[in-house]
Amino acid sequence: MKRRIVFATGNENKMKEIRMILADLNMEVISMKEAGVDIEIVEDGMSFEENAEIKARSVSRVLTNDIVLADDSGLEIDYLDKAPGIYSARFAGEDTSYDIKNRIFLDRLEGVPDEERTARFVCAVAAVFPDGTAETVRETIEGRIAHEISGDNGFGYDPIFYVPEYGCTTAEMTPEQKNELSHRGKALRSMKKILEKKFREGNL
Ligand code: IMP
Repeated sequence: MKRRIVFATGNENKMKEIRMILADLNMEVISMKEAGVDIEIVEDGMSFEENAEIKARSVSRVLTNDIVLADDSGLEIDYLDKAPGIYSARFAGEDTSYDIKNRIFLDRLEGVPDEERTARFVCAVAAVFPDGTAETVRETIEGRIAHEISGDNGFGYDPIFYVPEYGCTTAEMTPEQKNELSHRGKALRSMKKILEKKFREGNL
């Protein structure tokens, strides 16, 4: 039977990006929902890597024959000792709008000069294999916190994440442009390389 790759997310935008990046692996790539898994996952790890692996393992316990992938991501602001970090989604409350969350960070960095506004998006992707082993990768995109909200694309903290090389925020990039250089795009491509190597060596 052909192995499946199941991604432990309920987020359709992530699934679109993941399907695009993993398309040429010649494997069925489905979400946990499509695989019929509906479980509550408690993300209580202390790092992006731990949380990604916790998510992948939780689903792998149910789908023991599949390769299960999961990601965990967030924003690190150096001036705030890398906050919100692994708490990016929960910062100021899960139900608070990003317009408000973004304004809170702009206020906290009021008057802070550009060179101290450095920040990065981080993404860890974990894979748990049917034999119980796991692989984890981490990638980042470096930038800085803008002085104002700009752009309507993307989601979350994109409108305040300025990338100096491109002279705009990630919310002002097209989805294709962002996938090319984003933490998640890079981490998924790194994980794809690991999967390809395992296939080539006959380990999957
Ligand atoms: P999770 O990885 O789905 O748990 O979400 C992490 C949180 O980090 C998101 O809810 C956003 O707040 C933030 N985040 C992660 N990646 C991005 C991004 O590409 N743009 C904007 N915000 C992001």
